[in-house]
Amino acid sequence: MNYKKNLVTLRRELHQIPEMGWGEFKTTAKIISILDNLGWKVYTGLQQVGIERVMGRNIEFVEKSIKRARESGVSEEILERIQGYTGCIAEFDTGREGPVTALRFDIDCVGVEETDSPEHLPNKENFRSCHPEAMHSCGHDGHTSVGLNVAQWVIENKEQLKGTIKLIFQPAEEGVRGGAAQAASGLLDNVNYLLGAHLAMMCPTGEVCLYPTGLLSTTKLDVRLKGAPAHPTMSPHLGRNALACACTTVSELLGMARHGKGLGCINVGLMQAGECRNVIPVHATIQMEVRGETDEINNFMVEQACRIVKGTALAYDVAYEIEKVGEGGELRNDPELAQLVGEIAKDVPSCDHVVERKKIGCSEDFTLLASRVRAHGGKTEFFVVGADRTAAHHQREFDFDEKGMETAFDIFTGCLLKLNKK
Ligand SMILES: [Zn+2]
Repeated sequence: MNYKKNLVTLRRELHQIPEMGWGEFKTTAKIISILDNLGWKVYTGLQQVGIERVMGRNIEFVEKSIKRARESGVSEEILERIQGYTGCIAEFDTGREGPVTALRFDIDCVGVEETDSPEHLPNKENFRSCHPEAMHSCGHDGHTSVGLNVAQWVIENKEQLKGTIKLIFQPAEEGVRGGAAQAASGLLDNVNYLLGAHLAMMCPTGEVCLYPTGLLSTTKLDVRLKGAPAHPTMSPHLGRNALACACTTVSELLGMARHGKGLGCINVGLMQAGECRNVIPVHATIQMEVRGETDEINNFMVEQACRIVKGTALAYDVAYEIEKVGEGGELRNDPELAQLVGEIAKDVPSCDHVVERKKIGCSEDFTLLASRVRAHGGKTEFFVVGADRTAAHHQREFDFDEKGMETAFDIFTGCLLKLNKK
């Protein structure tokens, strides 16, 4: 197999069908059929998620996505296997005793409309997104392509390997929603080594970063307030004003105390309230997130936020509901595994240098898969594989140097050859 070429081909196919979190039906169907053909055991649908830990999954959006997948020719048989829950976990048992090594690849896209600039490579080379308002502008198309090429490589090189390889194709990484659910599936509990990587970020082509920093622990919360309607002049005393409650809540949230041990952030990104001019407003919604340099700081922010919502709701006599719709933890890499990745990277032809501790400044729910693995005695490592990019991540002009996929592929397969060598 010409992996160099196939990495690009698959990435470009995936780039055309970007799907947002929990809606990745076309993408998942494609992944499953490739893995099936290669002879992997594939856990799909409810087998690969802990349903009680599924977060931020909008049913209407899921149904629309299934409909689109069906209309573009995804078979009923595969849709049945997906059971409405995208992503999958593949397993290959070499039949020889040895460690269980898992690699994680996220598969979802971002909700932006791809640029129509003729300079943008997907336009020039004719592989732009064919879904409106959805685009792989974070490089997860590249991650998925790397994962599928590793799947092929494992089969072609199985005689050199021992133990078991698992490939995690994770849905809904954006908004840190899918990691917790896959961690709760239990399918990672026997994993000895878990590796994950992100393309590009702050690293140029040829660079690999072993201990990315500034990866923040985070919790995403939706708050719903419910008051009571009333005539604003005839019987205002009978009303319960959810809009007023939401306003006070938001001001209190933004002014909450920070933690002395490090960075803590809060953002309220959306507030909607009220029904019409002459009725005391009944409904209000607040979408917010908190982040912290560590889990401890993040938890401090979450507890405070919940207390503020509760207290303000009490003050306004309004009913409240808080839903956790996303979660990512702090990143903790195992030094031994990080060193191994570093050594392998140095021998990879497309990698010219390895660095440590560059700052990213986002969040990742790989951390939740990792903490599950660590809780069962396994080791974990998350690194960044450099790739020049044309714009910042999540922008409509984003594109990355496809050579980065080669580097990632060579590092992952190099790790398998080390950790699972017969
Ligand atoms: Zn990303």
